[in-house]
Amino acid sequence: MGVLLSRIVGHDDRIHKLKNYFSQHHAGRTFLFSGPSGVGKKQVAWGLSQILLCENKTPNFDACGVCGSCRRVEKKEHESLMWVDPDSDLIKIDDAKEILQFLRLRSLSKFRIVIIDQAHRMNASAGNSLLKIMEEPPEDLFFFLISSAPTQILQTLRSRSMKVAFQSLSVTDLRKISQASISVLNSVRGRLDLIGQKEDPEQQKEKKSWADELIYLMMNEEAWTDPDWRVSMKEKSSWPLRLQFWMSLLRDCRILKSQTFIEKAQAISILLHPELKSEVQILSQWPTEKIDSIFQKLLNYEKDLVIHRDSVLMMEELMASEQIHKSI
Ligand SMILES: [Zn+2]
Repeated sequence: MGVLLSRIVGHDDRIHKLKNYFSQHHAGRTFLFSGPSGVGKKQVAWGLSQILLCENKTPNFDACGVCGSCRRVEKKEHESLMWVDPDSDLIKIDDAKEILQFLRLRSLSKFRIVIIDQAHRMNASAGNSLLKIMEEPPEDLFFFLISSAPTQILQTLRSRSMKVAFQSLSVTDLRKISQASISVLNSVRGRLDLIGQKEDPEQQKEKKSWADELIYLMMNEEAWTDPDWRVSMKEKSSWPLRLQFWMSLLRDCRILKSQTFIEKAQAISILLHPELKSEVQILSQWPTEKIDSIFQKLLNYEKDLVIHRDSVLMMEELMASEQIHKSI
């Protein structure tokens, strides 16, 4: 039980400004919280919702943390707060209809709030059907759009939203909330959500297998006739993580490659995946242009995920254009 905003680490400046805004403005509005994933954007929206709905706000415009409303917000059971959390799926017209349905219900609270996580996953028909209400919400309605890829949100919607950009958390901030070692905290680039993954041995094993997979697929012609990797790649849920992981691995390659021999020992200390050093070294034998071009393609594939491109086809395309054979 408690005040949600008090649990947030970092973002003091933004929270201060937002609280100020809400203490002075009461007209409905759409907000766009952008920034890296896993830094706390959604938690800030959640905490602000608690303040707005609190029945007994403090003079400093904080939630009391104990009233019935505060408790229901905390348990995500508040009747005036709707969560749209698409996980790995698109936000489609049916979700939009649910939102509109929610908004038709008569509210007993002073405000109604809709938090849409991963708002960039909203497809065009869902976006268009919500456009009007998001552009000019009624007096008592606030939308929080949360996104790590805000440029993929409808331009009309973006232009009418109040934008709040969140930054990565500092290592000092991360230390306040995590017991993880400094090397882990240094390697997560300010993202809380990556700390657990870094520490989990199962995850480590999976990453090793993804590293081996990248080497195999990009360096072996036999991969073309091998059905096994295609089966594992059909598993959609791991594909975004795998893409991000491969990109971070290629980033490590670039660091190793850009160093002179003497600096190499020092370079190893800033690798994101020091435990996968031998895999990184294999990949570092690739020409720099090749690494950059594969990186760029993976980056594009990550964007294509939003439109649900087939992962196996993407991989085959990458192999067709970039595969390196041992003879080279
Ligand atoms: Zn309260």
